[in-house]
Amino acid sequence: MKRMLRFLRGVFFGALAFGMVVSLPMDVSAAARLAFDYRWQVCPNTLPFRCDIPEKSAVQSAMNTWNAVKDFSGKSMLTLQMTTSSSASNTISYYSGSRFDTAVGYTDEATYTSNGKKYVSSMKIYLCTYNGKQYSVGAKVNCFDIQTIVTHELGHALCVMHCHKQGASSCFSSTCTSNVMNPDAHRNFTRRTLTSYDKSSYQVIYD
Ligand SMILES: [Zn+2]
Ligand SMILES: [Zn+2]
Repeated sequence: MKRMLRFLRGVFFGALAFGMVVSLPMDVSAAARLAFDYRWQVCPNTLPFRCDIPEKSAVQSAMNTWNAVKDFSGKSMLTLQMTTSSSASNTISYYSGSRFDTAVGYTDEATYTSNGKKYVSSMKIYLCTYNGKQYSVGAKVNCFDIQTIVTHELGHALCVMHCHKQGASSCFSSTCTSNVMNPDAHRNFTRRTLTSYDKSSYQVIYD
């Protein structure tokens, strides 16, 4: 039985002046990673996202990156798809308000509980422009690369968590600084390719 939607904590991709992350050769087994306590209920499934930002090919490339990941038996998992539907519950948009003042990308999830398990009903991705944050297609001085930020946020939209808590001094993954799901965003920088840690963090959710 689906209950009323409610917004829980969002997850943001914060900009830090310097990467404070220490990369340690730690276990990247299925158990040793951060995870949300929710997921999409139906997998495989197609998830339509309305893209309200003009840089659609960068968003499509980010979608293609996750869509290429198969489950452990080689089958497709969740398929991200762009839609123009005005009633779409999943969206990607710019956000200029101060609510996410320190965030770069931000993903807000709505969830429901069914048979004691928590599931996602919709995801809203924001590229935050507050306080002069700017975006570009590709690495550019002072700007955040849209494909990099959207690939990261789409990971959250698929329920993939960061490789470590923001500000933590160690990581679950030895490829920390290369991971798309690294929690720190940087200007004039691209990080668009999933590491095996990123992929397996997704696969274990829907295994
Ligand atoms: Zn994040
Ligand atoms: Zn990490």
